[in-house]
Amino acid sequence: MLLDRRGRALATLRLSVTDRCNLRCTYCMPEAHYTWLEKPHLLSFEELTRVVRLLRVQGLEKVRITGGEPLLRQELPKLVGMLAQSGVPQLALTSNGVLLEKQAEALRAAGLQRLTVSLDTLRPEVFSRLAQRSEIASVLSSLRFVRGLGFQELKLDTVVVRGVNDGELVDLVRFAGEIGAEIRFIEYMDVGGATRWEPGLVVSQAEILEKLRAGYGSAQPLAGRGSAPAERFRLSNGQVVGVVASVTRPFCADCDRLRLTADGQLLLCLYARTGLDLRQLLRSGAGDDEVSGRIAEFWMSRQDQGAVDRTRVRRRSGYVSLKELRADPRLEMHTRGG
Ligand code: SAM
Ligand code: SF4
Repeated sequence: MLLDRRGRALATLRLSVTDRCNLRCTYCMPEAHYTWLEKPHLLSFEELTRVVRLLRVQGLEKVRITGGEPLLRQELPKLVGMLAQSGVPQLALTSNGVLLEKQAEALRAAGLQRLTVSLDTLRPEVFSRLAQRSEIASVLSSLRFVRGLGFQELKLDTVVVRGVNDGELVDLVRFAGEIGAEIRFIEYMDVGGATRWEPGLVVSQAEILEKLRAGYGSAQPLAGRGSAPAERFRLSNGQVVGVVASVTRPFCADCDRLRLTADGQLLLCLYARTGLDLRQLLRSGAGDDEVSGRIAEFWMSRQDQGAVDRTRVRRRSGYVSLKELRADPRLEMHTRGG
C-alpha cells in the first residue's frame, strides 16, 4: 500500500484515453476550438496496460476509463479487454452516452463491469443548451439499451447548474429509478477556466438535498462512504442518490486517486498545475522497477488538497486564465478526466 504525506492510500486511477469530445458541455469544454494533444503523444494500449499492471502491484483497486469522451478512442473494447486481463479488481468507464448504444455490448463482453453515464437533463432544449449539440435522443436510447446488459453497476452523473437544470432533480431521480441506475448530483466545479464559472452558478449539496426532500419527503444519509466522492442518501421511496459536494464540502482528506492524461502526464489532483511525465519515462526504455519506483515516489510526495484550498480563495472565479489554458491544454477538465 502506498501512502502519501497525508496518509492517503493510492487505490484509484482515472485513465483519460482521449481529450476529444463529441459534446461541448458549457461547464467543461465550451469553446468551439481547442488545442488537441498530439496524436503520437497518446499512450498506446500496451503503455496504458503496463502502467495499470505496475500500479496493481502497488495496491491499485480501481481503474476508471474517461476522457474527453472515451468512446471516441479507436478500438476501446480492445483496451478494456487488456485492462480486464491485468487483474485490477474494478474496471469502470464514464461516458456521455452518445455512442454507447453501438459499443456497449462489445465493452461488456470485453470485461467492463461498471458504467457511469453523464445525464444533466431530460429536456431536449436544455440538453442542446448545455451540451451545445442536439444528442439527447441517442443518450436516452443508449441508457435504455444498457440496462439489459448486466453491468454490475450503472450510475448517472448530473452536474447541477443554477438556472439551467436545477429544477429537474426530482424528474432525473425518477428516470434513474426507471432504468435501474443510481444517480449522483455533482456541484459545478471551477476546474479549467474557459467555462466562465462563477460561485452563483453552484447549487450546493444543502440546496440539492432541500430539493430532494421537497420532492420525496426525506433523504437519510447512509454510512460507509469510504474514499468515494459521493455522500449517499436514501429517499423515502427507497431509492439511493449520491451528492458530490466538491465545492462546498470537498473530500480531499479521503482522496485515493491518481489521474493520467491521454498523453501520459500523471497528475495528483484535479487542480494540479504540473505532473510527472510518464510518457517520457515509458518511452526512454525504463524498466518496470524504475517506472514503479518513480510513480511510488510521486504518490508519496503528495500533499495537495486542491478543492479544500479553493474554498479559502476569496472572490473565487475561473481557476486558470484563458491564455494559460491555450498554452497548456492539460489544465482543462476534459484532458484530466473529470
Ligand atoms: N465525456 C465523459 C462524460 O461526460 O461523462 C467523460 C469525461 S467528463 C470530463 C467526466 C465527468 O466530469 C462527467 O461526469 C462530467 O459531468 C464531469 N464534469 C465536467 N466538468 C465539470 C465541472 N465543471 N464540474 C463538475 N463536474 C464536471
Ligand atoms: Fe465532453 Fe464529458 Fe466534457 Fe461534456 S463533460 S464536454 S461530454 S468531456
